Amino acid sequence: MNVLVINCGSSSVKYALFDKNEAIIVKGKRERLGQQDDDRRGTHAEAIANIFAELAGHSIDAVGHRVVHGGESCQQSRAIDDDVRAAIVKHIPDAPMHNPYSLAAIDAAVKALASVPHVAVFDTAFHARMPKRAITYAIDQDIAKAHGIRRYGFHGISHEYAANIAAGFLERPLQDLRLITLHLGNGASACAVEFGRSAETSMGNTPLEGLVMGTRSGDVDAGVLLSLLRSGEFDVAGLDTLLNHHSGLAGLSGLGNDLREIEQAASEGNERARMAINVFAHRARKYIGAYAAIMGGVDAIAFTGGIGENSASMRARILQRLEFLGVVMDEDKNNDASVIEDKDYARITTERSRVEAIVVKTNEELMIARQTRKVIESKRPKEALEIPIAISARHCHLTEDTFKRLFGENATPTHYKDLVQPGQFACEERVNLIGPRNRIEGVRLLGPLRKVDQVEISRTDEFKLGVDAPVRDSGKVAGSAPIILEGPAGNVQLSEGLICARRHIHMHSDDAKRFAVKDRDEVSVAIVGGDRDLVFGDVLIRVKDSYALEMHIDTDEANAAELGRASVGSLSQTDVDDPAYTLVNQVHAALTE
Ligand code: AMP
Repeated sequence: MNVLVINCGSSSVKYALFDKNEAIIVKGKRERLGQQDDDRRGTHAEAIANIFAELAGHSIDAVGHRVVHGGESCQQSRAIDDDVRAAIVKHIPDAPMHNPYSLAAIDAAVKALASVPHVAVFDTAFHARMPKRAITYAIDQDIAKAHGIRRYGFHGISHEYAANIAAGFLERPLQDLRLITLHLGNGASACAVEFGRSAETSMGNTPLEGLVMGTRSGDVDAGVLLSLLRSGEFDVAGLDTLLNHHSGLAGLSGLGNDLREIEQAASEGNERARMAINVFAHRARKYIGAYAAIMGGVDAIAFTGGIGENSASMRARILQRLEFLGVVMDEDKNNDASVIEDKDYARITTERSRVEAIVVKTNEELMIARQTRKVIESKRPKEALEIPIAISARHCHLTEDTFKRLFGENATPTHYKDLVQPGQFACEERVNLIGPRNRIEGVRLLGPLRKVDQVEISRTDEFKLGVDAPVRDSGKVAGSAPIILEGPAGNVQLSEGLICARRHIHMHSDDAKRFAVKDRDEVSVAIVGGDRDLVFGDVLIRVKDSYALEMHIDTDEANAAELGRASVGSLSQTDVDDPAYTLVNQVHAALTE
C-alpha cells in the first residue's frame, strides 16, 4: 500500500509518498502559501492541486492528513467523513493557525483523489489518555464542561516518534521508561512520556499554552489578559494577534522568530536577543523539572524540532544545572550533534550521565503514514466474543519477608479458595491498611507469595486512605505510593507498592488469535445492554499460555457499569485507535457468584 502523507502548516505543505516498506518514493514542500506579499505562491488548495498533478504517474492507495485539533470526538486517527470534517471546522477558533489550512488541504485532496480513503491523524491523539488531573483546569467545572475547556495537548505525533526513538536508543521497552520529549520549533511543547503514554504536556486547550514559541507566548498569567482587555487598548482580536503572532521569540527579541538570527544578534551584544534566549531556555528547563517530579524520575530527555535538532547552544542552556537530576551533557557530542544526516538520533550526554539526553530528527510524516495504514488495515472481526469479567476487590500480594513480619515467623499462607487464574488462590489471611487519613480493615491476601509487595485498591479506597496511588500495570510498583500494613504479628511500612491496578484482560495465546490482539495491546471493551452502558477504554491485553481468559476490573469500575459481583459478560474487542470499530455488545446479565 502506498500512502501519501500531507502535513499542512500555516504557510507550508509538506508531502511524502511512502511505499509498503516505508521507503519514500517522493517528497517535497510548498512554502510561503497564503502570504500577502509579492512572494505569494498561492493558496493551500492550489498547492495541493499542484502536488497531485506532480504525483500523477504514481499509484496512491491512501492519503494521511495531519490535523492539529479535532476536539473530544476526534482524538484518535480516523477515516475522514462528514463528522470528522465537522469536528475540524468546530475547532478552527482553537487552532486558528492550523485547522483552516488543514481543512482546505483535505477538501482539495479529496477532490483530487476521491477514490481512495483519506485519514486524519490528530496532533492530540498521543495525549488522549492523559490523566484527568493533567487535563483539568482549576476553574468552575460546570463552565469548563459547557465550553469544552480542558487540556488536549498537541505535537503528539512528534512526541510519540521521539519517545519511540529514545526507547530504541536505550534498548528498553517504551512501557518501562520515563521520558521527557521536547519538540522545540516554531511551535514548541514538552511532554512527559510515562511508560509509553503521555502523562503531561505543555500545550493545553489550544496550542498557545506552555513553552516560549516562535511567535506564541506560551504561559502567561490569565490576569494579564484581563488587564489588557480592561485597558480598552485590546479587544479579543487584538489579544489573539498579540499572543499568537507578536509574542514568543519574536516578541521578546523584536527581531522575528528565527532563532538563528536571534543567536547571531545575541552574540553581537543585543540585549533583547539575549533575553529571548534566556526566557526560552528557562521555561524549557522549568518544564523538565516539573515533569521529572510528576513521573518520579526520568530515564532520558529527547530534543526534536527545528531548534531542538539544530541549536546546540539552546540545548546546552536548557540542560544547564540539571546535574542534580543525573543529566551530564557532553559538550563535544552536543556540538557535533547539531547536524544530523542519515541518523535518527545522536546522544549528547557523557558515559557517566545517569539520565541520557539525545537529539532526535523528527519524522512526523512517517508516523502519519503508519497511523493511516493502521486505520485502514484494522478491520478486525466484529462478532462478539465472550469474556468473563472478574471484579477484583482490594487485595494484596506479599513477599515472604513481609508476610512473616505481619503474621509471624512460622506462619504460611492458608488456602481459602482457588481463583480462575491457574495457581492463584485467595488466602484466609487479611491485613489492615493504614493511610495518612484513615484505615481500611480486612484486605485479603492472594497467594502464592511473590517477589515484590503489591497492594491493589480502588480510587474510592485511595481517597479514604488519603494517598495518591498511581494507576499501574501489575508488577510495576517502582515509585508507587507508600502504605502501612498491619497484621497480627506487627506492622510493615512499605515505601512503595500501593497501586490502582490498570484494567486488563488475561488471555491464552489461542484467545489472542481469536481476538486478533497481541500481548500489551490496548483495547476498548463495551458493556452494553444493561442499565448503564459503558465503554472501558485503555484495557491492557496480557497474553500468556498459563492465563485463563478473564477481564479484571476493580469495584469502582464495576459499580460504574452496574455489573454484579463476578459477572460474566459478553464483550467484544475493538481497536482503540479506530472508533469506527467501537463495540457491539450485550452483557448477558450476571451469571455466577
Ligand atoms: P520548525 O518549526 O521545527 O521548522 O523549527 C523552526 C525553528 O528552528 C526556527 O526558529 C529556526 O530558527 C530554528 N532553527 C533551524 N535551524 C537552526 C539552527 N541551525 N540554529 C538555531 N535555530 C535553528
